[in-house]
Amino acid sequence: MTTTSRRSLLLAAPLLLPAVARAQGGGGFPNRPVTITVPFAAGGPTDVISRLVAEGMARDLGQPVVVENVTGAGGTIAAARVAQARPDGHTLLMHHIGHASAATLYRRLPYDVVEGFAPLGLASDAAMTLVARPDFPAADLAGFMAEIKRQGDKLNLAHSGLGAANHLCGMLLQHAAGAAATGVVFRGSAPAITDLMAGRVDIFCDQATNTVNFIRESRIKAFAVTLPDRVPGLDLPTTAEAGQPSLLMGTWHGLYAPRATPPEVQERLSAALRAALREERLRQRFADLVTEPASEERATPAYHRRFLAEEVARWRPIIQAANVYAD
Ligand code: ASP
Repeated sequence: MTTTSRRSLLLAAPLLLPAVARAQGGGGFPNRPVTITVPFAAGGPTDVISRLVAEGMARDLGQPVVVENVTGAGGTIAAARVAQARPDGHTLLMHHIGHASAATLYRRLPYDVVEGFAPLGLASDAAMTLVARPDFPAADLAGFMAEIKRQGDKLNLAHSGLGAANHLCGMLLQHAAGAAATGVVFRGSAPAITDLMAGRVDIFCDQATNTVNFIRESRIKAFAVTLPDRVPGLDLPTTAEAGQPSLLMGTWHGLYAPRATPPEVQERLSAALRAALREERLRQRFADLVTEPASEERATPAYHRRFLAEEVARWRPIIQAANVYAD
């Protein structure tokens, strides 16, 4: 190449860049792989949901979307990392109900749960299930509750850190049983359920996404779903049917960018989330895991922002009344 042609290429480069960027969609965004930060271990519900969403978003965005598991402290380590990330839309967070409860549970968070993020849309809803190790001495929910009351802290209750969905559900369970079990912290639902199947921990209240296959294969005992209605595809009574109407809790996941992410990038990411949730493959996998994809309305920034604020307000008095803090 002659010096002149090399120089003219260099001169042309800034002119070419916007065209390349446009081909990648969204005025230069994304111009490299996007990372979804997952606050829990690989193989658990947050991870599985994120990986399915990531596949569809990658197709829509024309860039790889990868998952990075950043575990610990009930999801607050991952959330802190994303709140402080460069707000260019390439670093995202998938978090669940625990993001809302953390606002009250953790009194010294290095970020603001609502103001520190740009919510992009909800991704999913799922039931929680009350489960136990395979040889747990109970045949139904009444027997399960009676055994928790009888054995108290001799029983090990698995959870994924203070404020994680399964921890919140475990608190409701202990409150309903009138006894306190011994908490055992895992980095996510996947390692917790492995230990439950092996009998190393006794009881667990975890997202149906994670438990459904093990329930179907009878590798754990299951007593009820913690929703007002039965869950199609799960042969379990509701807590109300089984005599514990106050034991109610569903969980949800949502996708976030750092707060200062440009509005057009937020919109682009949110549209990619909705595109992913529309894909047949994702819907089929979610259905297999008795997990509902968020509707088009719920998977929007406006809905998610409102919903998150409501969830923070809903959990605040519950946590204050329990007087449990994670600091
Ligand atoms: N869903 C779990 C929880 O209840 C964590 C995980 O996704 O592994 O917090």
